[in-house]
Amino acid sequence: MRVKQGELLGGASHGVLACVALKRPVREEFTYGVPHAMAENLQVGMRVAVHFSGRREVGIVTALPQSTDVPASRLKNISAVLDEGPVLDEDLMELTRWMGHYYGCSWGEALAAVLPAALKREGGRRQVVRLSPAEGIGQEELASLEDKHVGQYRVLRTLLNASGPLERNELVRKLNISTSPIQTLLKKEWIVAERIDAVTEALSGAPAENRPPPECLMPQQVAAIGAISKPLEAKEFETFLLRGVTGSGKTEVYLEVIKKCLELGRGAIVLVPEIALTPQTVGWFRGRFGQVAVLHSRMTDAQRHDAWKAVRKGEVRVVVGARSALFAPMPDLGVVVVDEEHEPSFKQGSTPRYHGRDLAVVRAKRANAVCILGSATPSLESWLNAKNGRYTLLEMYERAQGGALPSVEVIDLNSVKVNGPFSDPLALAIRETIQRGEQVILFQNRRGFAPVLWCAQCKAVVKCDQCDSSMVFHRKLQRIVCHGCCAERRPPKQCPTCKAPGLRFLGEGSEQVEQAVKSLCPDARVARMDSDSMNSQEDYERVLGQFGAGEVDILVGTQMIAKGLDFPGVTLVGIVSADSSLHLADFRASERTFQLLCQVAGRAGRGELPGRILVQTHAPEHPAIVHAATHDYRAFVEYELPLRDELDYPPYGRIILVVLEDEDEALVEKTANHLGEVLEHHLADDEVQILGPAPAPIALLRNRHRRNFLLKTGPSSELLDKTRNLLQSFVERHHRPRITVDVDPVSML
Ligand code: ADP
Ligand code: ZN
Repeated sequence: MRVKQGELLGGASHGVLACVALKRPVREEFTYGVPHAMAENLQVGMRVAVHFSGRREVGIVTALPQSTDVPASRLKNISAVLDEGPVLDEDLMELTRWMGHYYGCSWGEALAAVLPAALKREGGRRQVVRLSPAEGIGQEELASLEDKHVGQYRVLRTLLNASGPLERNELVRKLNISTSPIQTLLKKEWIVAERIDAVTEALSGAPAENRPPPECLMPQQVAAIGAISKPLEAKEFETFLLRGVTGSGKTEVYLEVIKKCLELGRGAIVLVPEIALTPQTVGWFRGRFGQVAVLHSRMTDAQRHDAWKAVRKGEVRVVVGARSALFAPMPDLGVVVVDEEHEPSFKQGSTPRYHGRDLAVVRAKRANAVCILGSATPSLESWLNAKNGRYTLLEMYERAQGGALPSVEVIDLNSVKVNGPFSDPLALAIRETIQRGEQVILFQNRRGFAPVLWCAQCKAVVKCDQCDSSMVFHRKLQRIVCHGCCAERRPPKQCPTCKAPGLRFLGEGSEQVEQAVKSLCPDARVARMDSDSMNSQEDYERVLGQFGAGEVDILVGTQMIAKGLDFPGVTLVGIVSADSSLHLADFRASERTFQLLCQVAGRAGRGELPGRILVQTHAPEHPAIVHAATHDYRAFVEYELPLRDELDYPPYGRIILVVLEDEDEALVEKTANHLGEVLEHHLADDEVQILGPAPAPIALLRNRHRRNFLLKTGPSSELLDKTRNLLQSFVERHHRPRITVDVDPVSML
């Protein structure tokens, strides 16, 4: 039976009531009446349809209270009950409530991040777009859009380059556009839309990769597995920080622990960074355990929903996935693994801004499970937790397959001959490696051809019209592109400032590295992997497959290639520039640089042959580089921790980043000043440090002016609560400018 909107209960005190969480940025749940016919089976954790502000929405029942303050005359009834039983168990309900509280969003917003999209609506559809099958949509049409209709131009260009249809939502997200260019192209019939049930899904079908258990485990692996098994068998919560150098066999530890966990009848969740979620990784788990559910952002809603259901029914006991796999509704959870726990990508960049690693610990605790955080270069947060005894530290220093860690040579770019992206020593090493028939990885963490276009006359740099950032030249496209907002146009022939002709390029992006290495080794087969050259998961897998099979000699890439790849034929890794991450306006710049260098270096020498790493830098003395070169994590930590301590930065104190942004600069400034006063007024007596308001590091983005605050609340959780509550009430009172509150941010930009 459906009940019409507004139909009233006889009286709130006799009727059944339900608190419903909706995906609204308001920190409360909403109370509804429950018609008798629906009341019988209603439980916490079930989905219901309700009317809210004139719209029908799906919400989750969070409580079934006895009474309410809402007067009976204003109490609306729920419209329908959508499930037979709860979609979320008690643990996940509790976890999402905690998430909403800690990260400062509503319970409904937290729930929305947890549920598969198919469960958030009453119906669901998936759409792909492809080039019109009609003849002749091609370069001419493309050229006609180039200057006036950039959005349509980019959609058409992407589809012309793609091997097949692309998901509509994915395209909108990737190109950072509104849907209107797609609609216009559909109207013109240059592209067509289709609804399809399922696409071939490379990861879901990843073949089991036979990685048989090693004949014998290394002593350090045995010790780690033994230590983790104890609380696992006793059903006790404990968090382990497994620090093992690259190649020390951490994956084998996870696999053995999960095997034990399954034998005990309990389930396991493994989180890996999205970028490391390759068929290779998934294959290892499939090879060992057979049925493995994979959850990641490229899945269709239907696939995700199927996987979710299988997990909930207990049909699949191992889940591998990116950040959101943490919310897999696994009954009787025994182990949560977070591999590469230091990765910033475990933090979600939009509401709810949760950190997958930190939530993994919370989830494991609720489930009396063990949590394993693994990394060669742990975050300083986890390291300090281990030092303080909150986590148990397990270390593995040796590579499982023997072989020393590759030697790292730092090349001081200030004192060698440099030709384009390569110094003489790097160029020589590349040529020699190719001549020996071995493989090379070249890492350059900037995409495009030249990051800066500048005028030799007036020294001006060509900037984006809407952002405070320089335009990057992309050679194949013959366009300049803003990496902040994706705006693009033809490169100007003359300086926009002084009109002098002949702008110059500065710096080398991955596209230029690819070109330079092709001229250096004309016979080598070169592939490039960055978000420009990779249109889909299929592209990514094809290139990795070719590299693994030895059909590609040199792989050039951005951080897409830094993670989790295991190619025994690689004996040289060249880091074209270690400097770009070193100069970010972020207190974690050194940590990131150190981690990235160690990661990339770990890609070499994984086979029989020794590996060599060459790092080019203008800052050869910088501790992040010096300690990465000697693979000395502890030395780096000892250098970095006191600096953080002195300034009350994490891991010693907690921070909250607040960003205000709007097109109206005066409004941003006024509101920021007002917020500053409010904060001063309420927090002045406490030990909260208020830095700001100040222009954000990217002070203009997509025409929005940005000001920020950095609040250091120290280690106390009461102060964190107080500060966050203050911020939230302020945010609820201001619709403009947009204000985002990020608790424990991982990026200051
Ligand atoms: P990590 O994740 O620590 O970088 P992996 O788990 O990928 O390391 O292991 C590196 C390599 O060593 C893999 O090829 C793996 O099969 C192998 N390996 C792991 N443990 C052993 C062992 N006990 N004996 C021999 N080889 C091992
Ligand atoms: Zn821009």
